[in-house]
Amino acid sequence: MLRSLWLDDDGDQWLPGPGRADAARAGVPAVEIVGAGVTGLSCALTLAEAGVAARVHDARGVAGGASGRNAGFALRGAALAYDEARIALGVPAARELWALSEAALARLAALAGDAFRPEGSLRLAVDAAERERIRAEYEALVADGFAAEWREPPVGGCPDRFHGALFHPNDGAIQPLHWIRRLAAAALAAGAEIVEGSSVRSLGDLGAPQVVVATDGLGARLLAGLDAVIVPARGQVIATAPVQPRTVACPHYARDGYDYWQQLPDGRLVVGGFRDTDPAGEATCDEGVTPGIQRRLEALAATVLGELPRVTHRWSGTWGETPDRLPLVGPVAEAVAGRSGVWIAAGYSGHGNVLGLACGDLVARGILGDAASTFVPFDAGRRFGGEGAAAGAVPS
Ligand SMILES: Cc1cc2nc3c(=O)[nH]c(=O)nc-3n(C[C@H](O)[C@H](O)[C@H](O)COP(=O)(O)OP(=O)(O)OC[C@H]3O[C@@H](n4cnc5c(N)ncnc54)[C@H](O)[C@@H]3O)c2cc1C
Repeated sequence: MLRSLWLDDDGDQWLPGPGRADAARAGVPAVEIVGAGVTGLSCALTLAEAGVAARVHDARGVAGGASGRNAGFALRGAALAYDEARIALGVPAARELWALSEAALARLAALAGDAFRPEGSLRLAVDAAERERIRAEYEALVADGFAAEWREPPVGGCPDRFHGALFHPNDGAIQPLHWIRRLAAAALAAGAEIVEGSSVRSLGDLGAPQVVVATDGLGARLLAGLDAVIVPARGQVIATAPVQPRTVACPHYARDGYDYWQQLPDGRLVVGGFRDTDPAGEATCDEGVTPGIQRRLEALAATVLGELPRVTHRWSGTWGETPDRLPLVGPVAEAVAGRSGVWIAAGYSGHGNVLGLACGDLVARGILGDAASTFVPFDAGRRFGGEGAAAGAVPS
């Protein structure tokens, strides 16, 4: 029951390829990557396409972490709303971040095929105060030339419940397992290796000159001090039996993203959230569920559908939260990492499905010595100190 709906779905065959089970492929690769989620596989794909030997290790398997346990929302942007990002980063950097994420979303759509559904997404206001916050994001997006649509009530399928909404037309939904397997298949086809069931105990055990920590909220053990910088956050989810007709046309989220739900084409409702009702209890890597949050998820499902169908799946996953809610991407100082050549791409603060694809690619390009790979607000050096993207870089 605690297996995610996605991981329970073997309808999309995992494509075997050279290197998947080929742990003993001769020699030490140029780059070893810890984590076979969206970040690690994106990094491996870019490196392999550049002709650089990359080996991905995962203690479990492809999509075993948050990448196979999330709610399946593929959203542009970051954990901060666009207007908040403008204040925190300044308008040029906020614009750059949104453009980076929109490019990654388009790339995801191209790589995922029918594992991506281009439905848009709806950010809903549960009260007048949230309506004001969402209006502020809408106005900032439109002012800076990004596509956004305002929706007045009734909206969100629950009459009288929502006070307006912001529709992001280019967002969509993914079937997380299918998407990640396709990304893995692309990385394998480009020549990367993926070693499942390979738990990395220490970065010092890896022989490659460059290593990448792509573990989002799960990597505290690997980097001294990581637990002070990236805090694990658990998200709990339920999925129901199919309900027809399908009334929720795209990913919905409300209460500043604390609650989120989508209805799949087969009519199943997937609902996650309420982490804020037990912040201390949910600051954990434990992939369990709790009765209090599960009851709230059921109540939300009943409100959305008008009834509570049978709950078929209950699960949770862990993501990494950073103090400024932006990921850490780039080299990590040797004094912190305990060895040279360590890079990180992690800490998406619950918004990593698209950003993970972008940041895995960014860190790979940093390793390749591409000076244009640095996006300053993400620079891992802001927390860890780094030697600069070119240090120890592998030429393409
Ligand atoms: C319930 C939930 C809902 C979410 N909803 C959304 C959403 O709707 N939209 C969105 O954009 N984001 C969402 N997120 C966040 C998003 O899923 C993550 O940010 C993203 O998947 C992170 O990908 P990743 O590859 O960086 O990490 P992960 O997918 O977590 O992969 C890390 C991998 O590292 C492996 N690993 C860890 N330590 C080791 C080790 N020592 N040795 C070997 N392997 C190791 C793990 O097994 C794991 O497979 C959600 C997350 C959760 C949990």
